[in-house]
Amino acid sequence: MKITAGLTAQPTISPNSVDGTGNSELVLCPHCDLAQYLPVLAAGEEAHCDRCQQQLDARQYDPILPPALYAASALLMLLLANLFPFVSMAIAGNRSEIHFFDTSAVLFNQFHQSLAILVWLIIQAVPAFCMLAVIYLKIGMLYRLPARIWVARVLFMLKPWSMVDIFLMGLLISFVKLVATAEISLGMSFWAFCLFCLLHLRTFQVLDRHALWASIAPSPQPVLRVKEGHTGLSMQLKLCHCCTAVMPIQQKRCSRCYTRVYARLPASLQKTLALLLTACVLYIPANVLPIMRTVSLGEITDSTIISGFILMWQNGEYPVAIIIFLASVVIPIIKIAVMFWLCFLASTPTLSKGKRNGIIYQLVDWVGRWSMVDVLVVAFMAALVRFGLLASVYPKIGAVLFAAVVITTMLAAVSFDPRLLWDHQPSADNPQAYLNTEGVIK
Ligand SMILES: [Zn+2]
Ligand SMILES: [Zn+2]
Repeated sequence: MKITAGLTAQPTISPNSVDGTGNSELVLCPHCDLAQYLPVLAAGEEAHCDRCQQQLDARQYDPILPPALYAASALLMLLLANLFPFVSMAIAGNRSEIHFFDTSAVLFNQFHQSLAILVWLIIQAVPAFCMLAVIYLKIGMLYRLPARIWVARVLFMLKPWSMVDIFLMGLLISFVKLVATAEISLGMSFWAFCLFCLLHLRTFQVLDRHALWASIAPSPQPVLRVKEGHTGLSMQLKLCHCCTAVMPIQQKRCSRCYTRVYARLPASLQKTLALLLTACVLYIPANVLPIMRTVSLGEITDSTIISGFILMWQNGEYPVAIIIFLASVVIPIIKIAVMFWLCFLASTPTLSKGKRNGIIYQLVDWVGRWSMVDVLVVAFMAALVRFGLLASVYPKIGAVLFAAVVITTMLAAVSFDPRLLWDHQPSADNPQAYLNTEGVIK
């Protein structure tokens, strides 16, 4: 196991040994299933998997106070972001001012309920819940509050769906689009929202997941010492993805967090392929149908994702045009193509190259959510630009379909089990795999 230290911290025991006090903990890598004993880490240290370099644990200097303070500050900023004017826009003597909540409320009033609820969830409800959950769990570490297991489960499940960072990017793109034709003024709430984004990000950076679950209950450990370098599957062990506990393969639910646990996600490839095919089907109308209707001096123009990009390019707004093109066209196509390729590799043992493809999987999984930026741009502009026939923006069905494409591809990545890429790769219990993949036994 590779240990990377923070400032001056050093591991307190040898990475590959078990100390006599039972402080060393068996973990299975969530990406490649390799069994390793996790040493006691000092503050600031991280432990990475020997085989795939996935981070297995990261120790914070103080696991309780900083996350709780950052989360409480973030919640305060979110409250302030909802209290004061967010952004105002002036055009030809007319002024439109919106509050942060209007971003979803206007859509709801314009009968785009599905888009309104989605936007409200990903920029208000889910981020607020995450911050509340962090505060509750941190206080719970001190006072043993009830239902911490369920709160922690929902927190880590919802974390990828908190998209305040993407909304901030959407705001900047919208400003670049609008600033040529209108005067934009930023209200108090806008700056509060920027601070909220930073504090929200920082809260998750300092959140010590391992310490959090350890405070709820000690990690269940196999009775017998197991061999490192073997996969969990070969030793009849499996990993709880929610709380990282290790348990016998015949046990159905995790004894710590009660999550249903599988050695490999059932029908992972079939589910992933079904979701990818759905995304492909949705992607065509999402690009053909308009995502936005613009009214300017009585003239109505419907724009698709591509025509919006072409217009921005012709207007010389190259950086924004490139961002929109990457987020809305390149990333979804690459993500769908890469996920299809990974499904093919996972079902073709002789082709699997775990380490490289594991990194590619993590990359497309992370970058995929940024495709939501165009949908959020449309939502924000529809809320702000409301001057009747003079200038107005309305969302169209293409935006809803494109949001569905992004959600479907995110679900496809969640359904994919990356351990399938490693099941025919070298490990101590499967040395023959070296022959299959590298031609030599190492
Ligand atoms: Zn690994
Ligand atoms: Zn668990």
